[in-house]
Amino acid sequence: MAKKSELEILKDELFYSPEHASYVCDEKETAKADKFCDGYVDFLNECRTEREAVAHIIALAEKKGYVPFDKKAKYKAGDKVYSNIHGKSVILSTIGKKSIAEGVKIAASHIDSPRLDLKPNPLYEDNQIAMFKTHYYGGIKKYQWPAMPLTLHGVIYKKNGECVTVRIGDEEGDPMFVVTDLLPHLDKNSDKPIGKAIEGENLNLLVGSRPLGNEKGADMVKLNVMKLLNKKYGITEKDFLTAELEAVPAFKAVDIGFDRSMIGSYGHDDRVCAYPSLMAEFDAKNPTYTTVSVFTDKEEIGSDGNTGLQSAYLKHFISDLGALENVPGRDVIRNSECLSADVNAAFDPNFPSVHDKKNAAYINDGIVVTKYTGARGKSSTNDANAEFLSKIRDIFDSNKVVWQTGELGKVDEGGGGTVAKYIANLGAQVVDVGVPVLSMHAPFEVVAKYDVYMAYKGFKSFLMAK
Ligand code: MN
Ligand code: MN
Repeated sequence: MAKKSELEILKDELFYSPEHASYVCDEKETAKADKFCDGYVDFLNECRTEREAVAHIIALAEKKGYVPFDKKAKYKAGDKVYSNIHGKSVILSTIGKKSIAEGVKIAASHIDSPRLDLKPNPLYEDNQIAMFKTHYYGGIKKYQWPAMPLTLHGVIYKKNGECVTVRIGDEEGDPMFVVTDLLPHLDKNSDKPIGKAIEGENLNLLVGSRPLGNEKGADMVKLNVMKLLNKKYGITEKDFLTAELEAVPAFKAVDIGFDRSMIGSYGHDDRVCAYPSLMAEFDAKNPTYTTVSVFTDKEEIGSDGNTGLQSAYLKHFISDLGALENVPGRDVIRNSECLSADVNAAFDPNFPSVHDKKNAAYINDGIVVTKYTGARGKSSTNDANAEFLSKIRDIFDSNKVVWQTGELGKVDEGGGGTVAKYIANLGAQVVDVGVPVLSMHAPFEVVAKYDVYMAYKGFKSFLMAK
């Protein structure tokens, strides 16, 4: 390499610009990042919905020695507990060496992703074609959902209260489902803007097309579908009323690029933070402060509901932890710190105009620290304070975490919230930290492997901070 001039050396000293992780990581560290991502790919393929994520997280946690939290039990430093929030959110916690009065370290990611939910009365037949009606969940671009294979996941409660678990389309040879699209030949004169090309009400799933026993008559295709469902699950049409079924893209997670540097998958938002946070929680052995790793539901629809972070479930859990040492929950929260672990939009060379290049996040530049997420005058956001940012900077730098800052789009263009503000509203110190994503909220999103690994390193160094 050519020798640097004095002015170049001065620039290096005085200027800041984020760096591609490959300039910072040696071969060994790069191999670790790639290996870490193999585990992430398995997690993505196993956990297609929030319910499946909770079940999988608890199964892994129990193998690591986590036990259900009991507020009447006695715990010692290093003990590991979990709390299952209605099967759709889960909290994992490792008891710290310091008193709970000194606060806890919270990492909060979400495990729900945009998808198509079946309506309570989904099944109908139209011209001998059987369909399921859906109501989409979260922020989707509707045109992205037709003409690709979908799988069906969820639960159905039968009349007798028995729960049937549904998971169709993941196994080799399973049938799948699809939302149909209009052929270009008949769509030539369509002057509809792309956002209006597909109506939400028309996101219906194709589920059958043969009449029962080749009989003529009304609803024989629907009857055939119902008979098949009855045979497989023992359900009748009324049982859909007490079901939660979600159609999600069938794509398995795969490497992207000749250099295999990226991963393409459904549901990176926000499993790409949940998995590193989970691994960091597992690896938090004898932390100084008690860790509270939250994997929440309902972020994509505004965190409402009893499994979302606008509810009191996190506050109550922290209060119960405090009560073990007779410390009021509010005193614990006041001294607590939180990484709100959620994705940010990565700069995309195909769409440069929506970003302020100087403040955008870039794939491979490491974990993104997002001071605020709101738009139009920073409305409706947690604007993390400099004191806390400075602490996070120190933790990341001293643990060789490659990190950058990122703003979600230009001023007056961006927006979108995370759970940060709900935890900040409780009084804890909070900042958004996560992985940059290309094609965020598309059925197939892309992340870089270095960033996934740096998220793990970032969460772990935060949970283990002295
Ligand atoms: Mn998210
Ligand atoms: Mn999202």
